[in-house]
Amino acid sequence: MGEFELIRQIFLPVAEATATPAVRLGIGDDCAIQSLPAGTELVFSVDTLVEGVHFPRQYEPEHLAWRALAVAASDLAAMGADPVCFTLALTLPSSDQAWLEAFGHGLQAAARAFDLALAGGDTTRGPLTVTIQVHGTVPDGAAITRGGARPADLVCVSGALGDAGAALGWLDTEPLPPRASELLARYHRPWPRLGLGKNLRGLATAAIDISDGLLADLGHILTASGVGATLDVSRVPLSPALRTLHADRAESLALQAGDDYELCFTLPPEHWERVCQLDPGLTVIGRITRESGLILKRDDGEERVHATGYDHFGAAQ
Ligand code: ADP
Ligand code: MG
Repeated sequence: MGEFELIRQIFLPVAEATATPAVRLGIGDDCAIQSLPAGTELVFSVDTLVEGVHFPRQYEPEHLAWRALAVAASDLAAMGADPVCFTLALTLPSSDQAWLEAFGHGLQAAARAFDLALAGGDTTRGPLTVTIQVHGTVPDGAAITRGGARPADLVCVSGALGDAGAALGWLDTEPLPPRASELLARYHRPWPRLGLGKNLRGLATAAIDISDGLLADLGHILTASGVGATLDVSRVPLSPALRTLHADRAESLALQAGDDYELCFTLPPEHWERVCQLDPGLTVIGRITRESGLILKRDDGEERVHATGYDHFGAAQ
């Protein structure tokens, strides 16, 4: 398949299957055109995944496409944006039809699941790299940034943490122990918390998606907001599969491993009940404090983690 044949066979069908009136002009011209309703702002972000760095070599193309779009869409969720469309810059070592078809399937499934229309892209030859730019919208001024956390706000997270990090250890394992597939699914098929992000508009004071680990990402909120926090480590939500398969490492995976793409956000306590009605799978894990720094509370005492120390936790395991 040549470049144009490839676009026609693989990517045009994805664009057609995900088309939305907000993309006024899609694949086929020099640029795409997105119309912005009056009173809305464009929220956009780009993410690159490089083979051997962000995903393993010989990785399933269907999973790769899903992951790449999920990772990008997760940034929209963290801002509270409504997803609209994306562009895809794909660099391929060769044009392998079966690989491309599988990639197209994964892309279409994810694009439909996340309500994102494929609006255009670029296709080049080189080491396997997937770059996705996502576009979303928010009502003027309604985006949730990292910088708004205030003392006494609750620190909350969605879902369970540590599963995707644990899955990294099972990627090449066969046969898999019982329940390991639950962890692997979290790695291969992350679900950006788009519905939650939108629900948090006007309620949460700050939000971030957990891509690098809870401590690292909460650290970004604390730095941007000029505050500190205490975390009750026993309250950090762990899945039954993680507790079963990694009893010894569950806590450190949940605190330090990335790739879960859950949201961490801060919330004035008076909004907790309302947010729980909108989304039942949330947990309060701590409090924002006036003093900077992060304090981890455990049954046997407290451990202070300084703002400059967050990088220390950036590398999982
Ligand atoms: P140009 O040279 O003007 O940048 P291209 O030849 O790169 O145009 O692309 C032709 C059309 O196909 C453009 O509308 C572009 O958005 C689209 N396109 C190219 N590659 C992809 C891709 N991987 N996914 C989706 N659309 C693509
Ligand atoms: Mg081009």
